[in-house]
Amino acid sequence: MSININRYKCGYCGACVGVCPKGALELVETWIEVDESVCIVCGICDRICPVGAIEVMK
Ligand code: SF4
Ligand code: SF4
Repeated sequence: MSININRYKCGYCGACVGVCPKGALELVETWIEVDESVCIVCGICDRICPVGAIEVMK
């Protein structure tokens, strides 16, 4: 698992979904889904998250 989303910290603002260049993130009700098969581990979602809920591990 290269991406960790802290579901207790996440405010479901959708910012990470909008910035992901690969469309790997999807907001499903109150859940962020990650499609790891398309994620390129660029870390943009990690940097945009206002509450630090995403951790991308290279
Ligand atoms: S690391 Fe990059 S490609 Fe992967 S989910 Fe985040 S923004 Fe999308
Ligand atoms: S940017 Fe952060 S707080 Fe907003 S939906 Fe993504 S993980 Fe949740």
